[in-house]
Amino acid sequence: MSNIMLYAEVTKENYLHTVLFELANKAVELSKKLDNASVSALLICKTGLAENFKEAFINSGFDYVYIAENNRLTHYSTELYSKIAVDIINDVKPDIILIGATTQGRDLAPRISSSLHTGLTADCIGLDINEQGKLAATRPTFGGKLMATILCKTLPQMATVRPKVFKPAAENIIKDTKFIYIKPEIDNIEKKVDFIEFVKGLNTSINELDSANIIVAGGKGLKNEAGFELLKNFAESIGACVAASRGAVDMGLAPADIQIGQTGKTVTPKLYIACGISGAIQHIVGMQDSDKIIAINIDEKAPIFQHCDCGIVGDAFDILPKLTEIFLK
Ligand SMILES: Cc1cc2nc3c(=O)[nH]c(=O)nc-3n(C[C@H](O)[C@H](O)[C@H](O)COP(=O)(O)OP(=O)(O)OC[C@H]3O[C@@H](n4cnc5c(N)ncnc54)[C@H](O)[C@@H]3O)c2cc1C
Repeated sequence: MSNIMLYAEVTKENYLHTVLFELANKAVELSKKLDNASVSALLICKTGLAENFKEAFINSGFDYVYIAENNRLTHYSTELYSKIAVDIINDVKPDIILIGATTQGRDLAPRISSSLHTGLTADCIGLDINEQGKLAATRPTFGGKLMATILCKTLPQMATVRPKVFKPAAENIIKDTKFIYIKPEIDNIEKKVDFIEFVKGLNTSINELDSANIIVAGGKGLKNEAGFELLKNFAESIGACVAASRGAVDMGLAPADIQIGQTGKTVTPKLYIACGISGAIQHIVGMQDSDKIIAINIDEKAPIFQHCDCGIVGDAFDILPKLTEIFLK
């Protein structure tokens, strides 16, 4: 029987990354097109942690969970995690492997695929099973102007998928999940990098952006640090997270970890406010599924106005302080 394996990422706060549940819902859907292929998770973590996640696995449609626990696995390590993953995959032989396109997943997935001499379709935004029973993985190409559906000639077929592209199941998918403990063979593996500490970014952390209800994003139209300061003040006044376009990141106005778009993050807040952002397709693909979008732009012909629920034509340097004043009152 075929097997779809998902990588269960443990975050630095020792939670399961929510992308796992989004992928699980999709994998259960795909498994139906593969004669009810089994859906399994691969969990690599420090000793004792797996116990905390068992209920989540049982409620999320997993048939099997392969657990590799070890006290050396307190933080993600490229060398240790990829060695363990490759060993388990060689043993279990899944047909499909799906990994969240998170910072960790983007590091781990290519290591696994190159060790296994198989293909990897990165940053997918759509997954399906074609008539031949192959994984059809869709991702933007040519700078987002085209969508390419890619098939993998070799096994396992691997893909990474961005968080928030798929939705988690609306209700529990309860399974009689089997937990299989595997002793990782990592005693002789040397880590090339040692973890010292996590340093939080200036504005916000990636995880906060993932769960933010309101995001205020700034673009090149904010011109300089003073412009971004106005944006941050406004965000604070309404309890929003700050994000940026690549234009703003390239200008050095914002850190790369808060970039939204094709080469940044995908977000789905209740409200997305784009200030001084033109609305290039590469930005739009990262925020278009927000519940409501407001755009502030000085140019009434800016493409962002084609994608928003409410457009404000005007100078962000005038509008942002006025809005901040209203909300601070
Ligand atoms: C392969 C590839 C991947 C990419 N990935 C991403 C990505 O992940 N995310 C991303 O954002 N981009 C990405 N880009 C870049 C993208 O194509 C655009 O260049 C970028 O989004 C433009 O950023 P911007 O809207 O901030 O700047 P601009 O396009 O320069 O727009 C600035 C806007 O500000 C407005 N403005 C100017 N002054 C004011 C003012 N005072 N008040 C209000 N508005 C004002 C202007 O009218 C203009 O519309 C990618 C490009 C490629 C080729």
